Amino acid sequence: MCGIVGYVGNREKREFILNGLKELEYRGYDSAGMAVMSLEGGCDKCAQEIAFFKAIGKLENLAKKSEGFSSSGEGVAIGHTRWATHGKPTEINAHPHLGEHSFVVHNGIIENYKELKEELEAKGVNFLSQTDTEVIVHLFEENLKTIGEPFKAYEATVARLHGAYATLLITKTAPGKIFFAKDAAPLAIGKSEGKEVFFASSDAPLIGLAKEVCYLDDKSYGFVSLDEIAVFKDAKKLSPSFAALPADKSYAQKEGYRFFMEKEIYEQSAVVSETLMGRVKEDAVGLENLTDEYLRNIDDIVICACGTSYHAALTSSYLFERLADTRAKVEIASEFRYRRPKLNKNALFIVISQSGETA
Ligand code: GLU
Repeated sequence: MCGIVGYVGNREKREFILNGLKELEYRGYDSAGMAVMSLEGGCDKCAQEIAFFKAIGKLENLAKKSEGFSSSGEGVAIGHTRWATHGKPTEINAHPHLGEHSFVVHNGIIENYKELKEELEAKGVNFLSQTDTEVIVHLFEENLKTIGEPFKAYEATVARLHGAYATLLITKTAPGKIFFAKDAAPLAIGKSEGKEVFFASSDAPLIGLAKEVCYLDDKSYGFVSLDEIAVFKDAKKLSPSFAALPADKSYAQKEGYRFFMEKEIYEQSAVVSETLMGRVKEDAVGLENLTDEYLRNIDDIVICACGTSYHAALTSSYLFERLADTRAKVEIASEFRYRRPKLNKNALFIVISQSGETA
């Protein structure tokens, strides 16, 4: 599960999305993307083209892809960093995913995507990506054909989703609005004194921009426009509760813990379960990019790390020897650079980096 940001207002949207995603970069990701809908001034908020950009790898690649693009009038934007669970990290699989007139970003997993995909394919819908996410945008557009009203169609779409998700959708059929839904994945709405509304999957992108934040409850969904923040749960409209957002970035990033290290210790179980999300199949871990043959060809394991991660590496070397029955040794990274190491051709070389500045 990686990062989501969204924006409704007059701010320069490419810049907000890139800066917001940058704040979530520490979580790791394999690709990134954004979609921006600009509203035409004169004609009572009619939607122009939705511009979108996607790139694999670092955010710099997305910045390069979208170079020269700017949208500072009234409009909406959604952005995403992806940690692939369904389908390889490719540009096509990067979010946003698109239908005929709508774009969606999503963190997490749609557990019942196969069933939904088959249903949509039977109606003649073509899928471009291998992701679970793409079902959301097509299901929404199919629902819209029968239901007619965009938010009602979105509500019917969310009712069919099972799994862990935080998702934002924009559509030319509802200019100036972002539809959102979340269950078991974080999503917050931020607002400031000015006429603008923000979305983010954690506080960091909102600090310095939003004054107040509302952490959405599981199973809530709704829409946001410049005039309204509408939150629903179980088909009932709620009055969302906003709390002051700290202006100090490092305080907010520590989420109430005294030190980053303390926070990281308490976060371990959540991090492990997020990392394994979508990779646990019938009580075993399945890593689709690592074939059995590839793993069988590994003769020994060398782990290179410094400081705390050196100690984590020592622990894991015991586990590798015990569970994988493979020779495992640990090198201190700060010394490794001065050596001329004799490495076996079929060694698996694991480098552990820390959140700090350790070279
Ligand atoms: N399951 C989605 C995908 O594979 C979203 C992954 C994420 O949380 O970034 O594209």
